[in-house]
Amino acid sequence: MSAAPTEIAIHREGAERMGFFTDTTVCIGCKACEVACKQWNDLPADGSVFRKGMSYDHTGSLGAATWRHVRFVERLAPSAAEREDAASRLAAGGGGGVPSLPVDGGRWTGDGGRGTVDSPGDLDLVALAESGAGEEEGSGGVDVAGAVAQMDRWLFMSDVCKHCTNAGCLDACPTGAIIRTEFQTVFIQPDVCNGCGYCIPSCPFGVVDRDKIDGRAGKCTLCYDRLQDGLEPACAKACPTDSILFGPYDELVDIARRRVAELHARGIDGAYLYGAGDEPQDQLAGGLGAFFLLTEAPERFGLPAQAESPIQENAPVATAAGLGAALAAAGAVVATFVLSHRGGRRR
Ligand code: SF4
Ligand code: SF4
Ligand code: SF4
Repeated sequence: MSAAPTEIAIHREGAERMGFFTDTTVCIGCKACEVACKQWNDLPADGSVFRKGMSYDHTGSLGAATWRHVRFVERLAPSAAEREDAASRLAAGGGGGVPSLPVDGGRWTGDGGRGTVDSPGDLDLVALAESGAGEEEGSGGVDVAGAVAQMDRWLFMSDVCKHCTNAGCLDACPTGAIIRTEFQTVFIQPDVCNGCGYCIPSCPFGVVDRDKIDGRAGKCTLCYDRLQDGLEPACAKACPTDSILFGPYDELVDIARRRVAELHARGIDGAYLYGAGDEPQDQLAGGLGAFFLLTEAPERFGLPAQAESPIQENAPVATAAGLGAALAAAGAVVATFVLSHRGGRRR
């Protein structure tokens, strides 16, 4: 891959595309990567709270000061009483608002099987705790142990900028602050960014954010400073399970494909790659420099099933409109010429 002709890009002889392969099946949710990123990049903490009724993911989301974020996706196994309660409410024509309602793809499974929730926002851990399971007498708060006991399993995914092949943020930036590095990663030059925020809606993954104090855009640099010195990015270095693998892009894709085949052979049929190895028409943002192995639908991890930047989506329309305008202008010139030519002959 080489930088698109419209991109501001750094070229260096011998540099190759580098990226991340994140295997969510071996992530243990320790958040060491998140901490290492903050430490290396001197980023402040930006809130750390248990948001009651939502998720144990206490750091929330990617942001201007959180360039790597480990998402927790809790899958619940509702109690027999909750299943019975939900079934009877649905049978009575009710539904909705039932705590820990066992659902599958947003629908009640109705088979008494193990339920799941679609997003952390669907969780109601307070209701779980209030249901009495394992609650410590007089504690008055959410009983973590009790709620965890009702969980089917946790999914973890360390999310980050995808360093897209077609990077909407880069296309949208009017100041040239966002550039393509010699490693084919996408880098925001903080001293050039003027804080206009055009890049924010242009990222299909909701990655870029503006600093609350100085207003400049911030996101993962793929540790450009460390790469220039031949070092591994801080997050990948800190990961104790090698869930985050860093390396030459093509090698990572080979490793990832082998891993998917291995998981399939072990009966995990749902394993697939998100952002790599797709046919051209199915590629997310032209292919992702930071791609993932997932075992659930992407939406369950807060990732879009389709991803193209608004600018690229509008490009064919804009091109057609531009061609139309050009043809109209050419037609007008020809008509003027013909008319004036005729007029000249009459005289
Ligand atoms: S469009 Fe979003 S995910 Fe892609 S490189 Fe830009 S910030 Fe990263
Ligand atoms: S590559 Fe560097 S900047 Fe990006 S998430 Fe990892 S530690 Fe943070
Ligand atoms: S990616 Fe690695 S370091 Fe980050 S939370 Fe998962 S296991 Fe921990």
